[in-house]
Amino acid sequence: MPTTAPRGVGHLRGDEPFPVAARRSLADAQLRRNLGHATSTIRAKSAAVIDEVPDWQELREAGSAIKADTMARLPELLQQLETAVVAAGGTVHWAVDAVEANRIVTDLVTATGTDRVMKVKSMATQEIGLNEALEAAGIEPVETDLAELIVQLGRDKPSHILVPAIHRNRAEIREIFLREMPGVDPSLTDEPAILAAAARRHLRRTFLSTRVAISGANFAVAETGALAVVESEGNGRMCLTLPDTLITVMGIEKVIPTWADLEVFLQLLPRASTGERMNPYTSMWTGVTPGDGPQDFHLVLLDNGRSAVLADEVGRQALHCIRCSACLNVCPVYERTGGHAYGSVYPGPIGAVLSPQLTGVEDNASLPYASSLCGACFDACPVKIDIPSILVHLRAEHVTAYRSEHRLPSAEAVTMAAAAYTMDHLPMYEAAQRGSRLARFAGRRGRGLPPPLSGWTVGRDLPQPPPQTFREWWTQR
Ligand code: SF4
Repeated sequence: MPTTAPRGVGHLRGDEPFPVAARRSLADAQLRRNLGHATSTIRAKSAAVIDEVPDWQELREAGSAIKADTMARLPELLQQLETAVVAAGGTVHWAVDAVEANRIVTDLVTATGTDRVMKVKSMATQEIGLNEALEAAGIEPVETDLAELIVQLGRDKPSHILVPAIHRNRAEIREIFLREMPGVDPSLTDEPAILAAAARRHLRRTFLSTRVAISGANFAVAETGALAVVESEGNGRMCLTLPDTLITVMGIEKVIPTWADLEVFLQLLPRASTGERMNPYTSMWTGVTPGDGPQDFHLVLLDNGRSAVLADEVGRQALHCIRCSACLNVCPVYERTGGHAYGSVYPGPIGAVLSPQLTGVEDNASLPYASSLCGACFDACPVKIDIPSILVHLRAEHVTAYRSEHRLPSAEAVTMAAAAYTMDHLPMYEAAQRGSRLARFAGRRGRGLPPPLSGWTVGRDLPQPPPQTFREWWTQR
């Protein structure tokens, strides 16, 4: 059985279970206002541009089919990618987990003799805790994506896949800049253009004086060895073209078979994520070209639990994700709790299925329950990942693991078995319905049921049962 992501390194596990962290987020009115405003704005933009595409459903089918085909022959495609990257003058490194990936990247940077690197947005490097590993080796990582920079300067954690500083408003960002950005104009206002200009001035020094960059990759084409990064600001393009050495850290699931497949994803991704017809910057590079761009290119292929996800026939769909964040923007749970409550660098619905699989479900046991199973994420996903089915699958896995570890069934298993038995026996079912009226008093909002059912109501409001059941109403007629 393939191994899961190791403990003690990286950002896949939170310090506390989701319900505890979520309760704190829910009490933060400013956070909820910031999130509600940002997600509703992105949702509306995205819906409008998706409506313009007559074959959107066919595109989703195509994206889903390409990903399913990729996962079915992942080892073969990765070897093809390695051959193509090496032929184009690059070097490929295979990292089984976060520890190995951090060591490979740190050694590569140290070998260049530099003590500072610039980074373009990469979730894989956040997943493995690369910044911490670089800092421990005396290397300063500078995030160049504006939102990532805000998070880094604020000594904060990202809370959204696409908009890592979504939980911050303009006034908070101004305060961070004034406090943390060396040489910033003290009369800085919170106008977006003024804030962006301050960040641009701050980053320009880094772009022009840093010789090593570390990037992620949205896609890697197996047949040609080409890699692609899509972004909105142009900072990524600077990172990918200005330095002497470029190191790309990429999860192994980002490979796609052919150049033609890119056409599908480059239509799906911007409309589903930022609500744009086309993302402003799409940078592609293939190995090295003498006299043009970085002259030393390294690709680190990261597993870190992905082989374990691939081995699960239901759960492997999570590897189809193209990190558009559409599922976060439509999720009623995410909209109220924000990303930090999920504890992992991957928040929202996709995080609730990906993180527990990468770490092993016992290390993120509360995440598969962090959903109302409303299905909005499934409808929004541009590659049709059936997130609700994976959530149910992982809940079952957790119940089974709990039983074998504790030699006792979990509270969920006992409650569901009792409910199934009751529904199978009519007199018992009717008695239970009569008894449920007591819950009108015991389970008023803010008050839960008595033990052992209190385990169910501790995280849920109990709905008021109707004064009359359907059976009673029917009998009277
Ligand atoms: S699961 Fe689907 S909707 Fe969510 S981030 Fe991934 S691709 Fe986007």
